[in-house]
Amino acid sequence: MEKQSRRSFVKNLSLGAGSAVLLPNFSAFEIPRSAKKKIYQGKKLNIALCGLGRYANILARSFVHSKYCHLAGIITGTPSKAVEWKRRYSIPDENIYNYENFDSIQHNPKIDLVYVVLPNGMHKEYTIRAAQAGKHIIVEKPMAITEKDCQEMIDASKAAGVQFAVGYRLHYEPNHLEIMRLGQDKVFGAVRLIEVSLGYNIDGNPNDWHLKKALSGGGPLMNLGVYCVQASRYTLGEEPISVTAQFGPVTRPHLYKEVEESITWQLEFPSGAVASSTSTNRCGVDRFFAAADDGFFELSPAVSYGPFRGRSSEGEFRFPVINQQATQMDGIAQVILEGRELPEHISGVEGRKDMHVLEGIYKAAEMGGKVLL
Ligand code: NAD
Repeated sequence: MEKQSRRSFVKNLSLGAGSAVLLPNFSAFEIPRSAKKKIYQGKKLNIALCGLGRYANILARSFVHSKYCHLAGIITGTPSKAVEWKRRYSIPDENIYNYENFDSIQHNPKIDLVYVVLPNGMHKEYTIRAAQAGKHIIVEKPMAITEKDCQEMIDASKAAGVQFAVGYRLHYEPNHLEIMRLGQDKVFGAVRLIEVSLGYNIDGNPNDWHLKKALSGGGPLMNLGVYCVQASRYTLGEEPISVTAQFGPVTRPHLYKEVEESITWQLEFPSGAVASSTSTNRCGVDRFFAAADDGFFELSPAVSYGPFRGRSSEGEFRFPVINQQATQMDGIAQVILEGRELPEHISGVEGRKDMHVLEGIYKAAEMGGKVLL
């Protein structure tokens, strides 16, 4: 993570206790010539959701809270969902696609951006197809299932001159902006230790794509651990230099044939800070703790949809509860609508950096030693 851009990002956004939520005020960057043609006159960015599962439903419901985004289209392989979504969200027929005719979206000026909400292993294909169709893209976390795939997605978006964001909702959430500020500005001195873990007790459906490595890329590390890696990186404003990791026991072998059931890891950072995490499908855990030289700060719940509770050695955090999905989409849409370039921490480059760490964690757990990142 580029410390300077992160620091100015946090400074722009830091919210005092109890203050109103501000939309991100990213500094302007020059944008590629090809993308400059696409400065929109309309007030709202027209978004098509690609994949209409659980999270797409949460996103769809959040559009009513959005100032800059309109749910304009859908891409689905299930005809009955097309009928239902058309009715529920007043989506015109010409903005409804399936996975076969998706590429013809390039001829549809009423769609500006495709939001890919498919299983992780499908992110790369649909991101590249959306880029080649000339559409801006948001892709859900984790960005892809390998670092190499992440780079191909970045390259495709650059070649097409479109903007490419990862759906990191916590980059717009006030409690997380505060832990970025406290950590990166060393408000309580240097952070020495971070403990951040996320887990759910997930009763198994053996057909769930999360359990199939080709579609998920891995178990809870890919699904949940990416948030722990993110929080460690953005609290410190540093990139980890090495990792050790251990797979947990497999207690339900009929489910965990292809991916891990739980995993624990330890990251070391250039400053000497250490971050320890577990991501698990065996029990519920959702907490963040940072110990600094002169104090501490923590969140619990920390990563889920909230509402979050936070405090530091100086007292409770008091930030408003926001709609995380609408705030994230609006933050991205504002930048695109104003013809600016997305800052790196919300772009594919950020997702690729996380994937580099996730691959290192798997390697360390498999090899049993320390892996340099
Ligand atoms: P889901 O299983 O509920 O939805 C996946 C959708 O993909 C379904 O509509 C399904 O029909 C479709 N699909 C198309 N081809 C498929 C195939 N071959 N196998 C399985 N499904 C196929 O999953 P979800 O929970 O909505 O997750 C989708 C993406 O969103 C994932 O990348 C996930 O990590 C991410 N997600 C992000 C958050 C967040 O807070 N940012 C939360 C949940 C999920």
